[in-house]
Amino acid sequence: MNIQMYPYDEPWKNSDDGDACELLAYYQPQYNHATGLIVGAEALARMIHPKRGLIPPSEFIASMEETGQITSLDLAIFEKVCVLQRKCLDEHLAMVPISINVSRKNLFVEDFVDRMEVIRKKYDVPVKYLRVELTESAAEDSVDRVIAFLSKLHALGYIVEMDDFGSGYSSLNIFKNVDFDIIKLDLCFLQGNLNGGKAGTIVSSIVRMCQWLGLPVIAEGVEDIFQADFMKSIGCEYIQGYFYSKPLPESNFLQKLSGDAIGAIVPQLSLIKTMDAGSFWSPESQETLIFSNYVGAAAIFEWTDEKIELLRLNEKYVRELGMNMTEKELISGDPTASMDEVNKTKYKDMLRRAVESADEQECETWRIVRSQCCGEERVCIRSTVRMIGKSDISTLFYVSIRNITAEKARFTDLVDTERRFKAASEQANIYFWEYTVATKEMRPCFRCMRDLGLPPLVINYPEPAIEAGIFPPEVADMYRDWHRQIAEGVEHLEAIIPLTVGRVPFHVRYTTEFDSMGNPVKAYGSATLVVDADK
Ligand code: C2E
Ligand code: CA
Ligand code: CA
Repeated sequence: MNIQMYPYDEPWKNSDDGDACELLAYYQPQYNHATGLIVGAEALARMIHPKRGLIPPSEFIASMEETGQITSLDLAIFEKVCVLQRKCLDEHLAMVPISINVSRKNLFVEDFVDRMEVIRKKYDVPVKYLRVELTESAAEDSVDRVIAFLSKLHALGYIVEMDDFGSGYSSLNIFKNVDFDIIKLDLCFLQGNLNGGKAGTIVSSIVRMCQWLGLPVIAEGVEDIFQADFMKSIGCEYIQGYFYSKPLPESNFLQKLSGDAIGAIVPQLSLIKTMDAGSFWSPESQETLIFSNYVGAAAIFEWTDEKIELLRLNEKYVRELGMNMTEKELISGDPTASMDEVNKTKYKDMLRRAVESADEQECETWRIVRSQCCGEERVCIRSTVRMIGKSDISTLFYVSIRNITAEKARFTDLVDTERRFKAASEQANIYFWEYTVATKEMRPCFRCMRDLGLPPLVINYPEPAIEAGIFPPEVADMYRDWHRQIAEGVEHLEAIIPLTVGRVPFHVRYTTEFDSMGNPVKAYGSATLVVDADK
C-alpha cells in the first residue's frame, strides 16, 4: 500500500465534539493604485465550522500558536496556495504572486522552510509565484532567527515581506539588520487623519524612507478612495484593502484575476552606488555619526516636481541658519519658500546643474528666515549641493550650507565706504592710504594709484615711495622715522612735506589705530594739497 506522507497534520479535522472544521484560504488582491493593475494577493486562513459557519483567524490563530498547531496551519495554507498556482499554470490562467503568512512561532521550527520546499516541489510551482509575510514583531523578538530564516528563503529565491510595519516598536534597526524585500504598512495601526494630520506625516516619512532604501511599500487596510489617493500622493501606489476588495473565496478571486490586468511590484528609486542606504538612515550608523558630528551644516532634501522638502538635517544646519530655529521648524519645509523669485530661480538652476554635471554645484541666495522666537530676518546662504539619488519623479540631494550674511554685510559696507571716500577725496583733493604696522604693507587709495602709478598693495613701505621720488631724498629719513615712531605707538604725526619731483607742498598726516591691548596695528595716512592763500 502506498501511504502518502503529508508534511503536516490537520488538527482542525479531528475535533473532540465531532465537528471537524474545514480550512480554507481566502485571497485578498493587491493593486497598483496609479495604474489599476493587480500586482499580487495575500492568502488568509478561514475555518468553516459545520454549525457556526465561517470563523475568522482572530478566533483560532492565537490558540493554535499556543498549541503548536500553527505549523500545520501555515503549511496547509501554503499547500492550498501551491495547488491554486499549479492550477493556474496548468490552465494558463492569469497569475500573480501570492503571499502566505508565517507565524513567528514557525521561526523556531527548524525544518519549516524544508517542509515548505517539499510542498512547493510536489506541485512544481516556481518561487516567483510565492511570497512569505513575517510580522515586524517577529523581527523584533529574535533578530538572529529572522536573519537565518530569511537567508534560507532568499537562497531559494523567495521574496519576503515585513508584515504590519508600524504595529510594533518599528525600530529602524530592523532595516539595517534584516533584509526584507517589501514592507507592508498597515493603516489600521495609525489613528487619525492622514491628510494634514500627524498620522499622514508619519506615514509619508515611512514611505519615503522605504523608497530611498529601495523597498516597495504595500499599504494595507485601505478602506476608501481618500486613503488610496493619499497613499498614491506620497509615492506608495501599492494598495491592499476593502477599497479594492475584501478577501475572496478562491473562485471569486480567480474571476477577479481573469478580469483585471496584471502588473508587478518594483522599487522606484535608487541611491547612488557608493551609498549604503540602510546605514545612511539608521540613527546609529557610522554615516549618521559623521553626518551629525563631523561634517558642517548639512541636510538631505528631495526635489519633486519643482518642490523641495528637507528630509534630514544635522544640528549644525539648524545653528547655521541662526534665529534660534528648531529642527521641527525646518524639517519638511521648502527652503525655496523663503526666497524671492530671483533667488528661487538661482537655486533651482544650481539643482539642475548638479543633476546634469553629476558634480558639486554652489550658489548664494538671500532668504527671509522666520522663527517663533526671533521674528524675521534676511540671511544670505551659500549652498553646496550634490545629487545622491534619482528616480523618475524625484531627485535626492545632499547640501552643505554656510551663513554668509555677516560677510556680505561687511562687503557691502566696504563697497559703500569706498564709494563715499572716492567722492570725498575727489572733492577735497586728498590722497590717503592705510599702513599695516606688522607687515609694513601700504594700501593706497584709488587717486594714489591713478596719479602716482602705485599698485594696490605696496610692500616694505615707505621704501618704494622714497625710491620712486614721491618722497624726495631730503625728507626720506624723517619719513622713515615716522614709521618707526608709529611702530612704537605714536598716535599722531603731521608735517608739511614737499612731494614728488615738482616738490609740491602737501599737508601729510598719520593717525595710528591700536588693538585692545594697546598695540599699534594700523596707521591711516593722508596728504592734502597746501593751497597758498596769498597766491
Ligand atoms: P494580516 O496578515 O495583517 O492580514 C490582514 C488582515 O486585515 C486580514 O484580516 C484582512 O481581512 C484584513 N483587512 C484587509 N483589508 C482590510 C481593510 O480595508 N480594513 C480592515 N479593517 N481590515 C482589512 P484577517 O483575514 O481576519 O486576518 C487577521 C490576521 O490573522 C492576519 O493579519 C494574520 O496576522 C493572521 N492570519 C490570517 N491567515 C493566516 C495564516 O494563514 N497564517 C498565520 N500565521 N496567520 C494568519
Ligand atoms: Ca499578512
Ligand atoms: Ca498585515
